[in-house]
Amino acid sequence: MSRRAPPYAVTPEDRAITDHLRHRHPGEEVAWVDDGELVLHAHRPIPTDPSSAASVPWSPVIDLIQGIASIEPGRSHARLRRRLFSSVPLRMMDAAFVKVQAKRCAVVLSGAAKRIVGAGVPPGRVQGEGPGASRLARAVDVTPAAEEARAAVRTAHHLSPPPAGGLPMEVAREWALRARREGELHRRDRPVGAVLELPDGEIALGAMNRGGEGRSLHAEVNLAQMWWARRGAPIPKGSRVHVTLQCCRMCAAVLVALSEDARGPEVIFGEPDPGRFARETLLQTFDRERPFDRLSDRLADRSTAEDLSGG
Ligand SMILES: [Zn+2]
Repeated sequence: MSRRAPPYAVTPEDRAITDHLRHRHPGEEVAWVDDGELVLHAHRPIPTDPSSAASVPWSPVIDLIQGIASIEPGRSHARLRRRLFSSVPLRMMDAAFVKVQAKRCAVVLSGAAKRIVGAGVPPGRVQGEGPGASRLARAVDVTPAAEEARAAVRTAHHLSPPPAGGLPMEVAREWALRARREGELHRRDRPVGAVLELPDGEIALGAMNRGGEGRSLHAEVNLAQMWWARRGAPIPKGSRVHVTLQCCRMCAAVLVALSEDARGPEVIFGEPDPGRFARETLLQTFDRERPFDRLSDRLADRSTAEDLSGG
């Protein structure tokens, strides 16, 4: 029998803060955390097209996590250990971000779960007197920090791409080496590289982890966020991701959510990750990951090349 903590009961103050933040950002959904000193929050318009909304690799919750990690990387762990709040239900990808980076999040549907975009709540309700008002005097918007962190990733990755050619896994290793060489890592991080191989064999994108600038900036998250920033579309069916280290739950959820294939892309990893966050990932659930095998991957590579030349 598993013992679960009872579900968190949202307080009137939680609700008041959520409503107030939504009122500040009309037409947007919000996420926030009170770290004891500050109410840190993020906001984002929710895509109206449900088919794309599921695979957009950012959200108020992801912005909150990436923004906090970027403003002061050394303190983000402590800040994110508190309960997060979101005004919009968590998608699979958001839940995995919370699980790996923050632990817990309560969903506070605003008012009577109003989806009335832009309506918000009357301004007097929490401003001035009332619950949440004094705490909101210390509110900090971390959305720009999240955007800047992602823009910095894109810029760094454009500077000097590693040499093309060789097996995709070898290119992924180049990216990992680059992360180490350029000192992009948090002191406890291992260097990780990932590349996206499209169905026609083209290596479309490479990425490295940048934990020094934010603990959620894993190579696969960077890869997914860069892909979406460039294409605004899911990763095509039949694509493969080659990554030097087995995916954690967060990265697996992002890759699955972002893929045109509901089971996610096929993922080939260089080294197994014995850590607890690499267990029971969605890629494992859908049986979509396998270890790199030098011989069979070489043969697969050659047969692809022959298919292409013969076709
Ligand atoms: Zn990861």
